Amino acid sequence: MAGDDIREILFLCALQNAVKHGGVPQAGAVIGMVMGAHPELRGRAKEVSAMAKDAIADVAKLSPDERASTLQERAPEMMAALSEKHEHRKVLPDLEKAEKGVIMRFAPNPSGPLHIGHARAAALNDAYVKQYGGRYILRIEDTDPKRVDPEAYETVREDIRWLGLGITEVVTQSDRLPIYYDLCRQLIERKGAYVCTCDNEHFKELKMAKQACPCRDQSVEENLGLWQKMLDHSFREGEASVRIKTDLDHPDPAMRDFPAFRILDAPPHPKVKAHVYPLMNFSVVADDHLLGVSHVIRGKDHIANTRRQKYIYDHMGWEVPVYRHYGRMGIEGVVLSTSQMRAGIKEGTYTGWDDIRLGTLRALARRGISPVAVKNAMLAIGIGETDISFSWDNLYAENKKIVDPVANRYFFVPDPVRITIAGAPNHTARALLHPSDEARGTRTLEFTGDVLVPKAEITEGVCMIRLKDLFNVKVAWDNGTPLFSYGGDSLADARAAKARIIQWLPAKDTVPCILLTPDGEIHGSCEPRVKEELSKVVQFERVGFARIDSATASGITAYFTHK
Ligand code: GLU
Repeated sequence: MAGDDIREILFLCALQNAVKHGGVPQAGAVIGMVMGAHPELRGRAKEVSAMAKDAIADVAKLSPDERASTLQERAPEMMAALSEKHEHRKVLPDLEKAEKGVIMRFAPNPSGPLHIGHARAAALNDAYVKQYGGRYILRIEDTDPKRVDPEAYETVREDIRWLGLGITEVVTQSDRLPIYYDLCRQLIERKGAYVCTCDNEHFKELKMAKQACPCRDQSVEENLGLWQKMLDHSFREGEASVRIKTDLDHPDPAMRDFPAFRILDAPPHPKVKAHVYPLMNFSVVADDHLLGVSHVIRGKDHIANTRRQKYIYDHMGWEVPVYRHYGRMGIEGVVLSTSQMRAGIKEGTYTGWDDIRLGTLRALARRGISPVAVKNAMLAIGIGETDISFSWDNLYAENKKIVDPVANRYFFVPDPVRITIAGAPNHTARALLHPSDEARGTRTLEFTGDVLVPKAEITEGVCMIRLKDLFNVKVAWDNGTPLFSYGGDSLADARAAKARIIQWLPAKDTVPCILLTPDGEIHGSCEPRVKEELSKVVQFERVGFARIDSATASGITAYFTHK
């Protein structure tokens, strides 16, 4: 890990500690936190403790308010974690054989950024490790070079950092090819596997007829010789593979002597020089066993793989982990297929991996969805075997719990019209930044005669509106044209007239703002101070929560989060 990354982690941990306990943290506490989360730094204790002093000094320079707002800005998940309940929370059903702790893993393929589907396995395994204590391995499954996107090594790590998983170690499968080769030799010696040189089509015919191919009876020596030839490049792609001996009578043809290793001449692997690759079922078993994985929580789509994998455990005489397979989860409204996303980005249909029409975690982040909300929504779904459809409303409800207490309030006027209010006194409106946290202060809006209001609010027949935090406005209609005049300050009058209380802006003091929603763009204006909320979630009063995505001289772009 680079020095800058360590400094950043130390600073954030010191900051979190300061926000949690008040005052300036002790170096020991901060270093302990960092080492706990990043055991790989334990060998660099001297360096880390020197850097910790600087991080603590930086935190000490900030006022308590600045500490909280900086933590919220730089690491919202660490801020949210402070308000999570700290008592041992049992949110998921018990797992058998877990009393003494668990070793679990999250095993994505680096084929693109993580999406909502991945978040379920990631969050459930994470929660179980927290529930029982233990280790949480991130295993990058990159032994299929056709499905590796070199950039995804980094994007997956970033997505995991964003989700805030309690990963304790990282393993990359392409670093471990010699280990798999050696295990393959052992498996052949145990007569659990053989090298098959049959033509693929021919093998398929035999398999469908529940018949053994001629290679199945080769001696261990013959198989070892052929295996060596595979490794020595004596075979080309498609000419030889290693198969696991299973049950040729198995009712499911896909179980019958499935392949464990194959040769690929192309494409080259971005990390290693290789041409013999383990298939997923082999490398998953090898690593689950070697890394001591005790419990595997994965989707029902892996049930057939679990069945295949058990043959390998049997041949090797290894203990099988505890498996749980959760039901399928349909996710509507966003694109999830990595190939479709990639093609759309290439063609310019999507702006990038964080385009809000995509189901990636980065698209959720861009919309202002907190990682804590994503995890909580996944835990609420749980490990049930029933197939379900993912509820966006539940995710939004989880997110609202997190953003509502922190988001500052502002006025955004969609599709504005400028109106002149006759007879109204100049007035400085002071609106609270947060309705239940007066200490956060107010924003000021200077009324001098003309204001912008949402066009949609001025409908024929409306006789009074109340400009929020300002005063009432009478509306008279002259042949379909509205005329506006001062209607006094009394809230009771507004109530009696059933006046809508609407957002507004001083006409002289606004900034153009585009609110991007899944249904299209809403053009409008907002308070200039929204520029200070870059990358944060605010609430546009009466419109909904939004994440401020950019603020330039030409205006603000915000992404609609939810109501
Ligand atoms: N890498 C595979 C996947 O993401 C394997 C996961 C597993 O074995 O649970 O589907």
